[in-house]
Amino acid sequence: MTTIDNLMIKVDKLNKSFGDLHVLKDVDLTVKESDVVVLIGASGSGKSTLLRCLNFLEMKNSGDIIIEGEKVEKSTHNLNKVRERVGMVFQHFNLFPHKTVLENIIEAPVKVKGVKKGDAIKEGKELLNKVGLGDKLDVYPSKLSGGQKQRVAIARALAMKPDVMLFDEPTSALDPELVGEVLATMKELAKEGMTMVVVTHEMGFAREVADWVVYMNDGRIVERGHPNDVFDNPKEQRTKDFLNSIL
Ligand code: ADP
Ligand code: MG
Repeated sequence: MTTIDNLMIKVDKLNKSFGDLHVLKDVDLTVKESDVVVLIGASGSGKSTLLRCLNFLEMKNSGDIIIEGEKVEKSTHNLNKVRERVGMVFQHFNLFPHKTVLENIIEAPVKVKGVKKGDAIKEGKELLNKVGLGDKLDVYPSKLSGGQKQRVAIARALAMKPDVMLFDEPTSALDPELVGEVLATMKELAKEGMTMVVVTHEMGFAREVADWVVYMNDGRIVERGHPNDVFDNPKEQRTKDFLNSIL
């Protein structure tokens, strides 16, 4: 589905609290079709909570979340249907340990979407080829490296044919030598025009792949801009301090 103005996600004055803890404060965010938005910010600033609200794993307290032109509300929408359009990849891969790689990939298309098993297998094999794991179809996750597991997790999310993909620190749990292969897979997706919102500390990836970098601090979006502007010429002192702290 495409909207006239190509808006994939629009967030308006989003607020989210956990009890007394006000985590997201009037967050506004716009993601256009094929945009790659990299979300940066210190631990605890609300990045994961924002992604989880976009995927309705957490329910907002107030504000609007508009996905492909539709204001999505728990009361009016089947959130499982919305989640099919908004794929998510986590830091920890959450693969089914007792299923093979291919079984992991076809599980949701077959069980949730009602895709015919033969079709799901065909598409699953294509996706695994695409992430460079075409030779691992029948292997169990425990036999894979972390980088391979994360590429399976990406293929599994893609198997639902989402319109946008959310990545929450997809390389943070990986040994350093395995980070590159996952970033390369993500870069490939971006090149194909996938709309992506990525929380990451990989600033090289952000510089190279992001259309927009968004800096969050204490539940607010402090600064948003093109990567070179945000990294080389941040407008806000808080952004400067954060960038200095991680470089
Ligand atoms: P980030 O991803 O930027 O590190 P999070 O969104 O995970 O930040 O967390 C933001 C704040 O919300 C933190 O103070 C965290 O402890 C708190 N928080 C996150 N999830 C929950 C939850 N389910 N219940 C209570 N507090 C939470
Ligand atoms: Mg987080």
